[in-house]
Amino acid sequence: MRFKNLSQLKRPAPQQIPLAILPQDIAMTYYARAKAFKVNELVRTIHADSFEWYGFTLAAGDNPELIIDIGLPQNSQNQLDYATIGPAMIAEFQEKLPQATIINGWIHSHGALNYRHFSHTDEKNHLAVLDFIEARLRRPIAKKQVVIQDLVLLEEKRFTENDLKKGSVAIITDKPITAAKIMETVYGSFCYSIVIGDEGWHEQKIHYKERAVLSGHTMVSSKTAKIVFVDTGKTLTQAAISELSDEVQKKIKPHTDPPPELIERM
Ligand SMILES: [Zn+2]
Repeated sequence: MRFKNLSQLKRPAPQQIPLAILPQDIAMTYYARAKAFKVNELVRTIHADSFEWYGFTLAAGDNPELIIDIGLPQNSQNQLDYATIGPAMIAEFQEKLPQATIINGWIHSHGALNYRHFSHTDEKNHLAVLDFIEARLRRPIAKKQVVIQDLVLLEEKRFTENDLKKGSVAIITDKPITAAKIMETVYGSFCYSIVIGDEGWHEQKIHYKERAVLSGHTMVSSKTAKIVFVDTGKTLTQAAISELSDEVQKKIKPHTDPPPELIERM
């Protein structure tokens, strides 16, 4: 058989019906921003030095796209652990959160360094956080056609073993049918990543993971995003600052050695 041109060989693209869109910008309350930069300030005041710290961005379970708070886990003094966020550490932090609060990303500071990018280690941390939080954030974002070569349609109780030997996938129905389309759900989730500096700058990305239930097709991607600040009326009160000050004292420890990771992370 000869084809007149190559386009005749092309299969039609699988049908895809979008159901939801994952966040394209980062929504964050002014309160959460104030708290993040307050941590930077408190680190400098309490520890008389500026250095990196990390925390998680928090949301309400019924509004996972809006960062409403910053959560500080125990930042380890150990240089290697400090730079690497693993599932055990995230799990430990999450266990202490109220039931209705979820982690929707992570935030860290480069302190006084004017290094306004995500480092190689940061990129690894993005994926560790995304992997951990994706189950809770995932939602159906599309129905996508599963293209099956040699789909065989059979009728219940009316097929033979020989019929089963044909084709790659068989659909068995209660009534005879002549055509069928299989649509699988694609689940999508996201993770915010924000890096800030003492001078007031911030850079951020959103990481995405999409997974199709039947084919198992998985796609991880990321994009630089802007932050849209939201005013909820909540402000960082003096009492809250004093509480945060205790947390910074307890959870963020100054480096006892010259920090080699600063060099390594750049
Ligand atoms: Zn970093």
